[in-house]
Amino acid sequence: MSLFAQIEAMGHQQVAFFSDPALGLKSIIAIHDTTLGPALGGVRFWPYTSEAEALTDVLRLSRGMTYKAAISGLNLGGGKSVILGDPLTLKSEVVMRRFGQFVDILGGRYITAEDMGVSVRDMEYVRVETRHVTGLPEEMGGSGDPSPVTAYGVYLGMKAAWKKVTGTDSLQGVKVLVQGLGKVGMALVELLHKEGAILYATDLSAEQLALAQREYKVQPIPPDDWLSQPVDIFSPCARGGVLSSETISQLRCAVVAGSANNQLAQEDQDSVRLAEQGILYAPDFLINAGGLINVYTELEGYSRSRALARTEYIYDMTLRVFAAAEQRGITPHQAAMLLAEERIRAIAALRIHTAAPTLSLPIA
Ligand code: NAD
Repeated sequence: MSLFAQIEAMGHQQVAFFSDPALGLKSIIAIHDTTLGPALGGVRFWPYTSEAEALTDVLRLSRGMTYKAAISGLNLGGGKSVILGDPLTLKSEVVMRRFGQFVDILGGRYITAEDMGVSVRDMEYVRVETRHVTGLPEEMGGSGDPSPVTAYGVYLGMKAAWKKVTGTDSLQGVKVLVQGLGKVGMALVELLHKEGAILYATDLSAEQLALAQREYKVQPIPPDDWLSQPVDIFSPCARGGVLSSETISQLRCAVVAGSANNQLAQEDQDSVRLAEQGILYAPDFLINAGGLINVYTELEGYSRSRALARTEYIYDMTLRVFAAAEQRGITPHQAAMLLAEERIRAIAALRIHTAAPTLSLPIA
């Protein structure tokens, strides 16, 4: 597929390529859609095996951000950027500041944030060159680690899913298996423990498992045995692609609700497989949007309580998505995508209508 064909196929508005040969810096910034607001998405510093791979990644990730922002009710578009190279050898103050200049050239159409291969310190360098950056550490007046807010959103999405299945959203006595006890998984387990859920967890790290066992009465499950554990709710909070043709048929749960990005190995097919198996799937890009809501709140002057209050929207929206899926005879994943697209179309139409009076003004 040609470069332009690839960009057009995914509906991107703008893709900017930047290079600084003296620094060995190559970066791509993809702006998918700015109908709702400036395109926001992190910068990923990654040793891609080819330029084509980097382009595919930045196009796919920026498009995903459009849907996440739209379904979350945020006035943000979708964007993402990548820096091609090994962060261990290529990354430096100068490289990150030059990247900040690239971001600045776009004049606020794209707002950057931290992603894989990039640290808080790196974002401080980016901030020197541009104000179009969010997700800064608390010491710099930013919102800090978004994980607790992400976990809160996942918890609310999980409660909404449980309400859909049983009529009650109380998770007391409900068996929940959390895969991945990292920053989000551990915060989620804390919330679930407070509510009286019966907790199981799996992680590659024995220390994380021991900590969760001690603090939150979690029953540890070896990483290879999670599929055979019968529970009410499975919560993937480790990595993407965990819901596939191989795993779905073996799942023994009524609900899947977790934080991991891109849980469905094949979006449409696997969301249908889950539905056919009678498993209610809470779309990942909806219920894990707390982190995005958190950095959005930072753009207005951060308040943790406002970020948490805004995250409560996820509960109602998850119920709305389930209702739309039922009404339209589609999966919750498909319904969430459709509702996101409908919101973008409705706001785009609003712009057209507001533009009309200006056009009809008499020429002075
Ligand atoms: P993290 O790196 O802090 O934690 C991931 C945990 O998963 C680690 O403890 C790791 O040992 C464990 N793990 C990795 N592979 C595993 C496996 N095969 N089996 C069991 N455990 C495994 O990451 P995080 O910030 O907690 O994020 C978790 C997921 O949620 C990621 O997919 C991330 O992209 C997504 N997410 C995070 C946020 C956020 O605010 N941090 C926001 C949106 C989405």
